[in-house]
Amino acid sequence: VRRIWCVGRNYIEHIREMGQDERLPPFYFAKPADAIVPDGGTVPYPSLTKDMHHEVELVVALKSGGRNIPVAKANDCIWGYAVGIDLTRRDLQIASRDLKRPWEIGKAFDHSAPCGPLRPVSETGHPTKGKITLKCNGKLRQDGDLNQLIWNVPEIISNLSEMVELVAGDIIMTGTPSGVAATVAGDKLECEVEGVGKLTVTIGPPLK
Ligand code: MN
Repeated sequence: VRRIWCVGRNYIEHIREMGQDERLPPFYFAKPADAIVPDGGTVPYPSLTKDMHHEVELVVALKSGGRNIPVAKANDCIWGYAVGIDLTRRDLQIASRDLKRPWEIGKAFDHSAPCGPLRPVSETGHPTKGKITLKCNGKLRQDGDLNQLIWNVPEIISNLSEMVELVAGDIIMTGTPSGVAATVAGDKLECEVEGVGKLTVTIGPPLK
């Protein structure tokens, strides 16, 4: 993985639960590539927060890129898809937002990007609908559908490529449906995107 790009506010119900403007275009932030935690892994509960949230997301992995990619050519850049979680220190993100400071400390911390195995387009096609869910300790918390994405995957790739050059190895976390909530040490998070796959991670105790 080269870079992890994340889309903010891309499902209407999540925008409403966060109390944000529904008419604004999405925006982007990034996480470091070494924040990835593989399927079956454990996320140590991070420092400084009392409110880490889960955000289940469809992940897109690029095999090529470019600048100013037309929407109609964007799918040609995709290697495959996976299920990921944009883990968020919500209290620190909101504090940064309120102070008009960057979101890194809330979003781009160590182990903040669990990501399941990538599956190639030859197996998944380009999914535009299908359930996207997260269960915490067996209880359904997030239950959306890919057809609720405000900006779809080709539009995201095209728009982001106007801002930066996209390159093979970049992955994009495409935003979360509603139902985000706090997760604590001991929780088992089970995520699924219909037709793409599954991801299970455990939240562990804080690092000493
Ligand atoms: Mn997110």
